[in-house]
Amino acid sequence: MTNHNLDTLASQPEQLRAALEAADAATLMLVLVQLTRDASWLDRARPHIAGPMSYHETMPEPLRAEIRAGLFDVLMDYARNPRPLPPIPGGQLLVDMLNTAAGEPVGEDYVAMMREDLEPAAVDPRGLVWRDRPGDAVLDAFHVVVIGAGMSGMCAAIRLQQAGIPFTIIEKNATVSGTWFENSYPGCGVDTPNHFYSYSFEPNHDWSHFYAKRDELWQYFEGVADKHDLRRRTHLGTEVTACTFDDATQTWAVTARRADGSEYALKANAIMSAVGILNRPKLPDIPGRDSFAGTALHTAQWDPAFDWRGKRIAMIGTGASGHQVGPTIAPDVAELTIFQRSPHWVVPNPNYFGEVADGKKWALANIPYYGRWYRFQLFWGFADGLHSALKVDPEWQNPTRSINQKNDRHRDFMERHIRSELGADSPLLAKVIPDYPPYGKRILIDNDWYKMLKRPNVALVTDKIAEITPEGIVTADGTLTSVDAIVYATGFQASKMLWPMIIKGRHGINLHEVWKPDDATAYLGTLVPEFPNYFILLGPNTGLAHGGNAIFMVECQVRYIMNCLREVIESGKHSIDVRAPVHDAFVEEVDQLHDGMVWTHKGLNNWYRNPAGRVFAVLPYRLVDYWRMTSVFDPSEYRFA
Ligand code: NAP
Repeated sequence: MTNHNLDTLASQPEQLRAALEAADAATLMLVLVQLTRDASWLDRARPHIAGPMSYHETMPEPLRAEIRAGLFDVLMDYARNPRPLPPIPGGQLLVDMLNTAAGEPVGEDYVAMMREDLEPAAVDPRGLVWRDRPGDAVLDAFHVVVIGAGMSGMCAAIRLQQAGIPFTIIEKNATVSGTWFENSYPGCGVDTPNHFYSYSFEPNHDWSHFYAKRDELWQYFEGVADKHDLRRRTHLGTEVTACTFDDATQTWAVTARRADGSEYALKANAIMSAVGILNRPKLPDIPGRDSFAGTALHTAQWDPAFDWRGKRIAMIGTGASGHQVGPTIAPDVAELTIFQRSPHWVVPNPNYFGEVADGKKWALANIPYYGRWYRFQLFWGFADGLHSALKVDPEWQNPTRSINQKNDRHRDFMERHIRSELGADSPLLAKVIPDYPPYGKRILIDNDWYKMLKRPNVALVTDKIAEITPEGIVTADGTLTSVDAIVYATGFQASKMLWPMIIKGRHGINLHEVWKPDDATAYLGTLVPEFPNYFILLGPNTGLAHGGNAIFMVECQVRYIMNCLREVIESGKHSIDVRAPVHDAFVEEVDQLHDGMVWTHKGLNNWYRNPAGRVFAVLPYRLVDYWRMTSVFDPSEYRFA
């Protein structure tokens, strides 16, 4: 670790003091331990740090003050007497730090990942390191087409660029950023904390809020595209319609269609398909839908000119999108009638609306390791720390309510929150408390949903919708709700992965026929046998339903893919194709693990499963498992040509 960032501290002791006041004491304590190797801080802080779901620290103020003073002295000493910071702790100390950071034992599985995360920024371990860098002529002759310039396509492009491999990005939208450009519905934003939901190699210390809204996220991705100069290699307003593998040349023929309908061809040695799975909106199959005379909008195809103020609005759907739209528009509309088919579990979060204090931004930018430890705490609290709450305990006595003891505790926590928001006798309770265990559908953070339901201009309808008429929505009992506009917060055609692109691999095999309707599979969610050099980002079984951060998944996948490409290019081969038994064994394990997870719970529906009930969309593993699986590349799993 270089000491250059400590120069700032030496000249700005007052800012350092202010930052220490604003920063999280538990995170500062971890930095202090890392710099001093004094494990006694861990012993003193540990009893005051609680694990996920109700994650918080309750250290007494005198202890916090000691931590701040101790760290101030240590940092100023480094600043005044420049010397290298100590190396990353090893052995038991790192394990103890991880356990204390998480507020519960996390086990040794996280040590290697955390060591990688604590590496000095100058070495980016998730980028490609050539073993034997090929000459420029070899690299220039290799061309990758990246389909999509959203979060995952941009990550892929940045890694290709760093490795010196030429690429072209084809993007259907008018700009980069994918989902954060497309989704502009009122209230759109993240429900994963931003300091975790950002590229590990492009941390943003200036997020205005812990959970940023769409415009700020969009700007973040636009900024990353500019910084890495991705636009000059991006064909905007252009859609890939077909990819066909040529067995003779071991290359891909790509057909792209411009907005004006004209088509052109590209040749690619490899394809990185980064189109996401939540981008083809799904409209419900309700009789009379097209007869509605007012305005109809899907959340993912929002009309920025639509003015909801003073209007009577119906909203169908109460998932993550609806949960953000409803409370945002409710204060301004005449009436909001919400049609809910099934309720979601919703968790309160004290930081959800919180702004990031200037001192905290300064700490993130200037205090060494602070941002990395903060990220790990978020990683645990919003991802892997929740995983065990989703695993079915076969001995559990009350399976309609919950699936294991931890899951039951989480249920109690969320139920208490709902009752405290609505009141113990509210007739709404029967409608909003789910009758399935927590995490059976995607968990949501409370966006003032229950406060919204108590508004006099908001109604929650749980009767089945029978039809849509020109005037509005009719429920099964014949009641018509007349409205000016219908908002469809009804989600995406997730199971139609990579659709409607035509993808033909070896011997003309059509990927959509291999996958049949709705049953996508891929080794590590990335590689399909007989589709050489075709790499899927955020493919089958890589969605995160226990919590977490899709960017983390993408970084893991891209690292793995880059290692595949390294193997091909350095060995002078043309293509890499996963062996069918390797793919099949992976899928078998995924299916088997899913059998023991909450998403396959009896009677439950969610978008993670296909019509046959197979979980095709989400990951059954912990993030650390996926990190491990994608950090090693085993050539024996592949055929090379
Ligand atoms: P979704 O979770 O699939 O929710 C769709 C909603 O529409 C559900 O409430 C569903 O009811 C309802 N619905 C569908 N068809 C219906 C019908 N025919 N009649 C009545 N109701 C119907 O979609 P989403 O809210 O757009 O979210 C999709 C995913 O996008 C999320 O799970 C998340 O991964 C991502 N997302 C993330 C954020 C974020 O903050 N990070 C924000 C938005 C979206 P049932 O539940 O009964 O099926």
